[in-house]
Amino acid sequence: MNQPVVLLEHVYKYYNQVPVVQDLSLEIASGEMFGLLGPNGAGKSTTIRMLTTLTSPSQGRVAIADYDVVKQAQQVKRHIGVVLQQISVDPDLTVWENMEYHGRLHHIPNPERQAVIRQYLDYVELNDRRDTPVRNLSGGMKRRLQIARALLHQPEILFLDEPTVGLDPQTRRRLWEIVRDLKSQGMTILLTTHYMEEAEFLCDRIGIMDAGKLIEIGTPESLRQKHGMALVVTQSESDRKLSYKFFPDFEQANTYLEQQPDKRGMMVRASNLEDIFVELTGRKLD
Ligand code: ADP
Repeated sequence: MNQPVVLLEHVYKYYNQVPVVQDLSLEIASGEMFGLLGPNGAGKSTTIRMLTTLTSPSQGRVAIADYDVVKQAQQVKRHIGVVLQQISVDPDLTVWENMEYHGRLHHIPNPERQAVIRQYLDYVELNDRRDTPVRNLSGGMKRRLQIARALLHQPEILFLDEPTVGLDPQTRRRLWEIVRDLKSQGMTILLTTHYMEEAEFLCDRIGIMDAGKLIEIGTPESLRQKHGMALVVTQSESDRKLSYKFFPDFEQANTYLEQQPDKRGMMVRASNLEDIFVELTGRKLD
């Protein structure tokens, strides 16, 4: 593994004595795209908030590029770009004004500031909207503006909290292209999502969180290999409920199916991350 640039060591976060993140240890390498996957309430946002200095861990160590998020928050902030749900762009300002404001916050001097604003608005294809008030932008445009803004001070690590939630499939694809392009430029990216196909499509490695704990970690392929590449899905005749049986490969799944005296409601298909989540927790993601 390259040098880890994101590090969590036995991290806990309590709210009102309730642990919402428990004993989380994780290393993300430089240039890696890592996905934290899990249902609502799993602790994904809290983890991102600790990594981005917005809230302190109750216990354990969190470091970004070797800087401690509690003791060296300023240095951490210089290295990270953040796109969160909550911290949104100002709807009353124009696209350009939002970028300008962020550039000043990060003390980027002119004429460099004007140049990088133009560069990143170009990058997310919003230069023709530079004078549009943000409230008049579509959801996808707003998200692109948030990404451009997060890149302005040229961070090495980008945090994206549910970057495509609420966007239509086409807009989601457009954002995926941007994220993949950033990765190809060497950016380290941590994103959270509860969309399986997003994690499968974008991420080098995935951590599955549930109830504050990291319950599985690996590449999408290694997780499928570990739990089984193929499934026999059976739909019950009486209540239409689906049950799943994992097999190492298609051949073994097909052999099993062939051996069944009654094949009604049964089919073989490739496994995916959603199946693995259900297998691990007995629940659906949403
Ligand atoms: P996710 O991002 O996976 O949906 P969160 O990290 O947002 O999960 O939330 C994890 C748990 O922590 C939830 O039960 C949530 O209600 C709780 N929680 C999050 N933030 C706070 C807070 N500021 N105060 C109290 N409880 C919180």
